[in-house]
Amino acid sequence: MTIAIIGAGIAGAACAQRLQQQGQHVVVFDKGRAVGGRMSSKRTSAGYLDLGAQYFTARTPAFSSQCQRWLAQQVIERWHGALGLIEQGMLGASPDATERYIGIPSMQKPVQQLLADISVQHAEVSAVHFEQGCWQLYAGADLLGQFQQLVLAVPQQQAARLLQQVIESQWQLKSLFAQIALLPCWAVNIELAESDSLPVQFDGIFVKQDAQISWLARQGSKTGRAGPQHWLVHFTPAWSAEHLELSADEVAQHALAALQRVFNTRVKAVATLSHRWRYAQQVADYPLLGALRLHDVKLGLCGDWLNGGRVENAWLSGKQLAEELAL
Ligand code: FAD
Ligand code: NAD
Repeated sequence: MTIAIIGAGIAGAACAQRLQQQGQHVVVFDKGRAVGGRMSSKRTSAGYLDLGAQYFTARTPAFSSQCQRWLAQQVIERWHGALGLIEQGMLGASPDATERYIGIPSMQKPVQQLLADISVQHAEVSAVHFEQGCWQLYAGADLLGQFQQLVLAVPQQQAARLLQQVIESQWQLKSLFAQIALLPCWAVNIELAESDSLPVQFDGIFVKQDAQISWLARQGSKTGRAGPQHWLVHFTPAWSAEHLELSADEVAQHALAALQRVFNTRVKAVATLSHRWRYAQQVADYPLLGALRLHDVKLGLCGDWLNGGRVENAWLSGKQLAEELAL
């Protein structure tokens, strides 16, 4: 049986690897130039920039074992960034004992490792049709292939768009798509002038109860990333949703202003890079199925949005779906 998987993020990659280990033939499609999805770091001449996932943690035995394998393969390492917290406008140290991991030299490295022996085609799937017990995948007018089983490992809203044909006849899909699962996040990398530095010792700062931003990080605290003058700003889901259609430059100006506000200092940006993640962070009360398999239409869905957000939950969702497909 040949299985098509749309999406080469950590969920699609975990699903693909497990299916291949179970003896299935798998083809993965991704619209990105590289694999990794929201775990992708942006390559620049100064080093990688982490604009999406910042690090990941492991709370389950299965994912902890996977992390141990990745550590042994040297595709990830422990991140020992000094953590801070801004709460009610006050900045302070906030160390803890949690182990946090990063891909090296970029966040997508573990995804690349999972897909190392798997066929990945870089194409945006624009339509899928279920006919006579088979799935046909299209990129515009081009038929990408015909498959006995389809796995969607893409964010909820992108899955809903592709599945219009079958949603009406499948009540589980209708209820999955009735409530929005993922909220947006604007991310901005700010390169400060050489003469400027922020008056802080921290590499990652959780920002709580702020109307604008939720996280700040020094890229240079991670192996392979751009130097110490590069700071990453994540905006809150609410601010990002409200300002979704601003230009990249406008959002960068808000990011610089926020940095100056929280550190109460003036700094100059020599370059900025903004990225709008339309589907980023899971809505807190979205019901968690882990993954979904629909036997009669030979369809499976996996991804972080079905399992609580986070890298670990996306990986677990992909693995769960592969195991369900083997039954
Ligand atoms: P994705 O990574 O989104 O993968 C889906 C893939 O599908 C993408 O590669 C996309 O290109 C592809 N695709 C979509 N539609 C199509 C199509 N029609 N045709 C072909 N390909 C298609 N998690 C953490 O654990 N720690 C963090 O610090 C953290 N920080 C985050 C910060 C931000 C700004 C964001 C956005 C996310 C963060 N997350 C974090 C969440 C984490 O990145 C995700 O939970 C995880 O990467 C999701 O993996 P996934 O495989 O489910 O989806
Ligand atoms: P984690 O255990 O480090 O953090 C979970 C949450 O606990 C944090 O968001 C923070 O509120 C709190 N926290 C943890 N350590 C803290 C400390 N030392 N001081 C103060 N607060 C602390 O990581 P995780 O559970 O693996 O979560 C992944 C991270 O990814 C979270 O921070 C989450 O907010 C972030 N995320 C961001 C987006 C986005 O769109 N920006 C999307 C998904 C996940």
